Amino acid sequence: MKNKMNLLRDLQEIDQEISAIETTRHGYRSELDAFEADVVRVQEMLDQLNQEVAQLQQTEAELQQGLLKEQDNVRRVEARLPEIQTQKEYVAVLKEIDIAKKSNKDVEEQMRAQLQEISVLEEDIAEKEGELKAIQEKSEARGAELKQLLTESEAMLLKRTQTRESVAAALPASLLRKYHTLFKRRGGMALALASNGACLGCNMQLPPQQYNKLLEVAEIQNCPHCNRILYVEVDV
Ligand SMILES: [Zn+2]
Repeated sequence: MKNKMNLLRDLQEIDQEISAIETTRHGYRSELDAFEADVVRVQEMLDQLNQEVAQLQQTEAELQQGLLKEQDNVRRVEARLPEIQTQKEYVAVLKEIDIAKKSNKDVEEQMRAQLQEISVLEEDIAEKEGELKAIQEKSEARGAELKQLLTESEAMLLKRTQTRESVAAALPASLLRKYHTLFKRRGGMALALASNGACLGCNMQLPPQQYNKLLEVAEIQNCPHCNRILYVEVDV
C-alpha cells in the first residue's frame, strides 16, 4: 500500500511536469504561428497596394495613349489652317482646336493627379516592405530559437513519458484509471495530502474514523468531498 502510494505520487509529479512541458511547447508554437500570421498580414497589404499601383499605372498608360492621339489630331487640324478659304470655316476650326487643347489639358491634369497618387502608394509600399523585412528578420532569429526550444523540450517530454510508463506499469490498472480520471477532472491534482484531520485538496474535514484509518496507511482512500486519493506524510 505504501509502495503504491509512493508510485502514485511519483506518477503525479511526472504528469505535472509533462503538463508543464506541454504548456510551454504550446506557447512556443503560438509564438511561431504569430510570426507567420504577421508575415501573411503585411504581405496581404503589400499585394493590395501593388494591385492598386498596377491599376493606376494602367489607367495612366491609357490616358497617355489617348492624349498622344489627341495631340496628333490637333497638329493635323492646325496644319490645315492655312488652306482654309472662308472666315466661317476658319473660326469653326479654331474653335475645334481650342476645345481639343482644353480637353488635352484636362487629361494632363488627370495624369499628374494619377502620378501623384502612384508616388504616394509607392511610399506606402516601401514602408510595408521595410516592415515585412523587419518581421522576417525577427522571426528568423526568434524562429530558430523557438525551433531549438521545441526540439529540446520534445526530448525532455520523451524522457518523462518513458519514466511515466515504467511507473504506471507497476500500478494496478483499476487504480491507474481512477488516478487518470481524477488527474483530468481535478486540474492535475489527483492526490491530496491529508493533514490534521483535513483533506488539503479541498480543505474539508475528514471523518475522524477515516483519518485514523489513513494514518495506518493500510488501504487507498478517497476524500468524501473532492474524491481525490488521500495520502499522509508519515514520519519514518
Ligand atoms: Zn478533498
